[in-house]
Amino acid sequence: MAASKKERTFIMIKPDGVQRGLIGEIIKRFEQKGFSLQAMKFIQCTEDFMKQHYADLSSKKFFPGLVKYMSTGPVVAMVWSGLGVVKTGRVMLGETDPAASKPGTIRGDFCVEIGRNACHGSDSVESAEKEIKLWFKPEEIVEWTSCQEKFVYED
Ligand code: UDP
Ligand code: MG
Repeated sequence: MAASKKERTFIMIKPDGVQRGLIGEIIKRFEQKGFSLQAMKFIQCTEDFMKQHYADLSSKKFFPGLVKYMSTGPVVAMVWSGLGVVKTGRVMLGETDPAASKPGTIRGDFCVEIGRNACHGSDSVESAEKEIKLWFKPEEIVEWTSCQEKFVYED
């Protein structure tokens, strides 16, 4: 794929997604779609770190509960790349509220409540780059080309 078409997003499997055994299922969906994994870590973060990750939401009523919950267990942090991966990644996740998420989406298929919606995905190219920088050192990101690429993309 032309480098100019490449885009990156930050996807995280939240503590409920990990506890409910959805790691493989969520990774599978991104892999089978044709996106490419560039970085991944399994990690339990502090509440302070989650405050940085969700800094834009600090004025919301649900913020204290959110950052506390996010630090209660391990998460899987990932960078995925591909054409339109930010927007398409959000579509694959579903709506923030699982009750509004369509079947076929991760939240629509596996979740019930908004505060236990299994996964996070960057909402824009800018926030993706910001989140990737927060979660990963440059040397943790692997630049590679999947052999599938020439069959996923047109010339
Ligand atoms: N959230 C919540 N209550 C709300 C809104 C959001 O607990 O009323 C949680 C929910 O888990 C969501 C996260 O806060 O995924 C971040 O909110 P955002 O609006 O960024 O939703 P997202 O981008 O994850 O869809
Ligand atoms: Mg968000």
